[in-house]
Amino acid sequence: MALNLFNGWVEQARLCLSPHFNQRPDKEVSLLVIHNISLPAGCFGLPYIDQLFQGCLDVEADESFKDLQGLEVSAHFLIRRDGELVQYVSCNERAWHAGVSDFDGRIGCNDFAIGIELEGTDLVAYSELQYAKLIELTKSLMTSYPDITLDRITGHSDIAPGRKTDPGDSFDWQRFKKAL
Ligand SMILES: [Zn+2]
Repeated sequence: MALNLFNGWVEQARLCLSPHFNQRPDKEVSLLVIHNISLPAGCFGLPYIDQLFQGCLDVEADESFKDLQGLEVSAHFLIRRDGELVQYVSCNERAWHAGVSDFDGRIGCNDFAIGIELEGTDLVAYSELQYAKLIELTKSLMTSYPDITLDRITGHSDIAPGRKTDPGDSFDWQRFKKAL
């Protein structure tokens, strides 16, 4: 099944609008960045990722959330363990997922990247449903944004080495890229 994109929104995604975005400096969308996230770390299926990206994280809910207070971050997409696709920001807008980053000598990857978060950790294998949804989504994005070529699909750890480790050893790059 192909996903439908209109104005940067995937029709089949659950919308969860984030205020954490702004305009891309130009219209270029030419990089896909794969991340992982879990809140609290290693816990799945909870509402806290949505809350974080919406700017309303209940920082009292877990001791580890204290460090996240006031943090303004987002991604375009989240794929949960059960394969659910959530969209926070239009692909045509700049989401705030990469931070200080560099791809092929060019800094500030948020300017031209789409960010996809996989609910997970660097060490726990991602689910079959997540791979299936990620592959489906990536194919649709590559069709809508043809500047996203196979060699312009990367991990957060590759554009922010020494600072970020996601999506981690648990992500099977070979499997993912072979399926595209
Ligand atoms: Zn990341």
